[in-house]
Amino acid sequence: MGQREIAERMLEAWKRLASVEFDLLCCAAELDDPHEIALLLRIPLGRAKKLQEQAAAMGRLPQLAALMRDGLLDLDRFEVVRKLTENLDSEQARRVDAQLAGAAESNSKELKVEVARLVCLVDPLGAEIRHVRAVKRSEVRYRSMPDGMAELTAHLDAVRARQVFDQINVDAESLDDDRSWGEKQADVFVDRLLGSGRPVTVRTDVTVSATTLLGLTSEPGYVAGVGPVEANTAREIAAQGDWRKVLTDEVGMPIGVGRKRCRPPRVLREFVMVRDRVCQAPGCLRPVKECQIDHARGFASGGETEERNLGPFCDVHHCLKTIGRYRFTRGADGVRRWITPLGFEYETRAKAIAEPDPP
Ligand SMILES: [Zn+2]
Repeated sequence: MGQREIAERMLEAWKRLASVEFDLLCCAAELDDPHEIALLLRIPLGRAKKLQEQAAAMGRLPQLAALMRDGLLDLDRFEVVRKLTENLDSEQARRVDAQLAGAAESNSKELKVEVARLVCLVDPLGAEIRHVRAVKRSEVRYRSMPDGMAELTAHLDAVRARQVFDQINVDAESLDDDRSWGEKQADVFVDRLLGSGRPVTVRTDVTVSATTLLGLTSEPGYVAGVGPVEANTAREIAAQGDWRKVLTDEVGMPIGVGRKRCRPPRVLREFVMVRDRVCQAPGCLRPVKECQIDHARGFASGGETEERNLGPFCDVHHCLKTIGRYRFTRGADGVRRWITPLGFEYETRAKAIAEPDPP
């Protein structure tokens, strides 16, 4: 059996697994006693209770349940959505569900980002309240480890955590010696806290619609390396820095980047970064800051340096494409096609920035 046939067989098995998981949930929905389920399946009680919670969520997320029934969505991805929507009321959960027709095309990380965005959208006030409450639960923990080591973990606001993490990495990159990467990160971390107070040099990019910025709507913003953030957080970040305007067309895609300086290559680069925000390979969420801007059709083979031919690739995907094992095309309509060595094709497009205007 060739690699392609094995891959197809694997996909079939995966689909069967998803519909079997759906059957399991249907039964869990009918059984009243979680202790009975735990004994029956030889699973811990906690897992049995979770199965029942997942089963109950199928009523709130009917479209996703149907995808699972048809073998197109596995339980892990269903769980991602269930968890993120558990604080919504049934009507709000159904509104999120109604917009997830394409869920089967996303991996769990992409789904997490998309659902977080939709939750902010259908329940902006709730998202803000939950965030404020969650911030109250921030903490720093110390845990001793073997060999004279300890683990210091900080549970904090995602945007600030990202800023700290980016700053650690920027500082660590400036060190040119034979310490390991992790050692450099740890040293600059300690340095920042206990040493000299060096100025902060990282910048946080937020993408937010003008109407949200003006307080007219409460659409979530998007922070590179973090994902969707509720409207208030987006406004706060925008208020902190110098910001540039991005005009969007009627479906929420950018059509131009305003900027005082107008050296075209720079503007074009920024336009592409604002439009795509993450690596353009399917399933990859590496922030555009850590990517290089790539010509879909190589410059040497006649590809033009223009918006429709440019997009970001992280090192891994750039390498896969450059060595020619994976092929990539970018259509005039913005559809990006990633073709694997076994001949599978995956289509993606950049995600809209603003919510499309209602028809
Ligand atoms: Zn990538």
